[in-house]
Amino acid sequence: MHIVQMGMEHDVLKENSRIAHSNYRLLKDHGVRCIELMGSIGSGKTALIIKLAEQLRAKGVRSCAIAGDVAGEDDYRRMRESGLDAVNCNTGRECHLDAEMVRKVLENVNLDLYGVIFIENVGNLVCPADFPLGADYRVVVVSTTEGDDMVRKHHDIFIHSDVAVLNKIDIADAVDVDPDVIAEDYRKLTGGLKEIYRCSVKTEHGLGEVLSALNL
Ligand code: MG
Ligand code: ZN
Repeated sequence: MHIVQMGMEHDVLKENSRIAHSNYRLLKDHGVRCIELMGSIGSGKTALIIKLAEQLRAKGVRSCAIAGDVAGEDDYRRMRESGLDAVNCNTGRECHLDAEMVRKVLENVNLDLYGVIFIENVGNLVCPADFPLGADYRVVVVSTTEGDDMVRKHHDIFIHSDVAVLNKIDIADAVDVDPDVIAEDYRKLTGGLKEIYRCSVKTEHGLGEVLSALNL
């Protein structure tokens, strides 16, 4: 029984990778860059997307966001209210987006209009790691309010992402978290090769560095 389940899971992941690759090709064919954001509920993914999109707009680059959530339209509405084009994508019971859901959304987006597509994954630090969607960059966003042990507790998602962002750096003292601890854990996890980007979406501190890390 256990073996059968393992086999099914392998097939599901393989099929997901195949569709993710075709999403990637579709986006490339239209010259669109795609950034996926993963992270817990409340880490600041939606706010970060809104701020990055504003900075891109100032540079003349138009973007669109896919708001992935189990239910509801809260993030989607916040994006729209900021002036960002957005598509809502409710997963129903799934705690992560998969490549097929993204494929269906992309089918209904006029890709010729956009330079960048942001995908906000469902707030979750576990299974999104296993389901690539076809983005150029997978970004994990954590915030100081989540404590200083996020990298140690959730190393999988940090390993499966290309860029890591530590948000709410402006209130680190107030929540009694030392950002250096998180930065050091991340450095160790990546064999000393990568640094976590420290920023505050609220004060906009460090956002320029995040944009350059994403090649935007
Ligand atoms: Mg959100
Ligand atoms: Zn899940």
